[in-house]
Amino acid sequence: MTQILSSAPIKKKISKDLKNECKFLIENGIHPYLKVILIGNNPASLIYTASKKKFCERIGAKCDIIALSEDIDQLTFLKTIEEINQDSNVQGCIIQLPLPKHLSHLDVGKLISQEKDIDGFHPDNLYAVLSNHESTDHFVSCTPKGIITLLLENNIEIANKRVAIIGRSMIVGKPLACLFTNHDATVTLCHSKTLNIREITKECDIIVSAVGIANMVDESFISSKKNQVVIDVGMNTDTEGLLCGDVDFEKVKDLVLAITPVPGGVGPMTIISLAQNLLQASKNRLSL
Ligand code: NAP
Repeated sequence: MTQILSSAPIKKKISKDLKNECKFLIENGIHPYLKVILIGNNPASLIYTASKKKFCERIGAKCDIIALSEDIDQLTFLKTIEEINQDSNVQGCIIQLPLPKHLSHLDVGKLISQEKDIDGFHPDNLYAVLSNHESTDHFVSCTPKGIITLLLENNIEIANKRVAIIGRSMIVGKPLACLFTNHDATVTLCHSKTLNIREITKECDIIVSAVGIANMVDESFISSKKNQVVIDVGMNTDTEGLLCGDVDFEKVKDLVLAITPVPGGVGPMTIISLAQNLLQASKNRLSL
């Protein structure tokens, strides 16, 4: 039987720990507080930010969504972030991507101060991952961190495994390749210019798809040995407008050892990681 790697049991377990940690922080004078900067009305961004707020509040943290107009000028946008950087009551800040075109030249990773960058995009946070320098002062990008948590919680070995990641973005593919490497896996990072991707994925123990093309990964990417773990990061809409991943779940699920569903797989793990990072940022403020 194929193992369906649902995030639900992990969410239940980790939420309990996070609630306790949050209570402890509040008792010690720090109420974890996240500010999410949302620009415009992108429907997917509205859903993602609402989910983040809901989970933060569920564990007892505070979360405000700072909704800015689509045509906000650069100066006002930067001023808003600077005010949050300076606000000692706020421990975490994230900017919901994508940015509108007129702001897309800005290097988002450098805007939020390192100690509040709980998305893990700041150069110092990325360097900590790159150099395998684990430290409570630094934050690991949420989706890669959530994927590793999902595998570890399901007792899926990473060390000595061959991993194929499809997609080389700064927020998923590249940091994830580093994390897997730090866990002693051997990684092949594939992208749109990679030749013969299917030959690579068929040879690997773990396949991660972070591309953004609905149902792209079908049975032709999978080995016939039924020994692979498939992680689907994609959040796409199918022809009927329903949320779906990069992996054609129905075609692949019976051909592998384990697979994440969409929804209910990597998405909630990303939010769990965000909450973990927020509480870590808050703990870093404690002077115990
Ligand atoms: P992105 O920045 O657009 O990057 C997409 C990557 O896929 C690029 O590296 C691109 O290659 C590669 N690619 C495109 N077409 C390809 C093809 N035909 N074959 C192989 N590689 C191909 O995307 P992203 O921000 O990483 O997001 C990827 C997906 O994950 C999206 O669906 C997004 O919504 C989802 N996502 C989900 C979560 C979550 O929490 N579940 C979090 C983040 C993202 P090039 O570099 O050569 O262009």
